[in-house]
Amino acid sequence: MSPMPLSPSKIVCVGRNYARHAAELGNEVPSEPLIFLKPPSALIRGGEGIVLPPGVGRVDFEGEIGVVVGRRAHNVSEGDAWSHVEALLPLNDVTARDLQKKDGQWTRAKGFDTFCPVGEPVPLAEVDMDALGVTTRVNGNLRQQASAGDMVFGIPVLLAHISRIMTLEPGDLIATGTPDGVGPLAAGDEVEVSVGGVGAVRNPVREGSR
Ligand code: MG
Repeated sequence: MSPMPLSPSKIVCVGRNYARHAAELGNEVPSEPLIFLKPPSALIRGGEGIVLPPGVGRVDFEGEIGVVVGRRAHNVSEGDAWSHVEALLPLNDVTARDLQKKDGQWTRAKGFDTFCPVGEPVPLAEVDMDALGVTTRVNGNLRQQASAGDMVFGIPVLLAHISRIMTLEPGDLIATGTPDGVGPLAAGDEVEVSVGGVGAVRNPVREGSR
């Protein structure tokens, strides 16, 4: 079965949205959602390779719950936010950690080709919301595990916040932040991000060529 096409106009990501992850990198939890963008050119699907660019240092996995926008969202309220969500999917916010620290702003660290693996979208109505959470395994070893309830800002708060800044178009993706346990990837690894009640995305990791 070929994957459902995804063509977001933007991928909006949330940083430091789990307290223990903020702490593990020496950061405070922000007082309002901290957002950044990944370019749509970073998208890959399950089974495609995450390419480690030469010379960039440490590259980390970040397992996250991804949101697919279904209906244009501008200035939506928290109460109305879910009606703008079409589907959820597993997402890996792959990050060049050394470059993130070096650059100060995150566009390069978050923006390399292949740095946004996503799994198959599951329509919201079919998602078991009680099971919603994220689990990451590298080579079968458990590395991250958290419930959606552990998020500092839940999905309705994120949609309301982001839609006050930029209009969300149908097909846009939101990456809702990663829990603690982030760590580096190496060539030859296989990383799996699994979202409870939704599904998993699995990707091999390989070196890029110069
Ligand atoms: Mg992230």
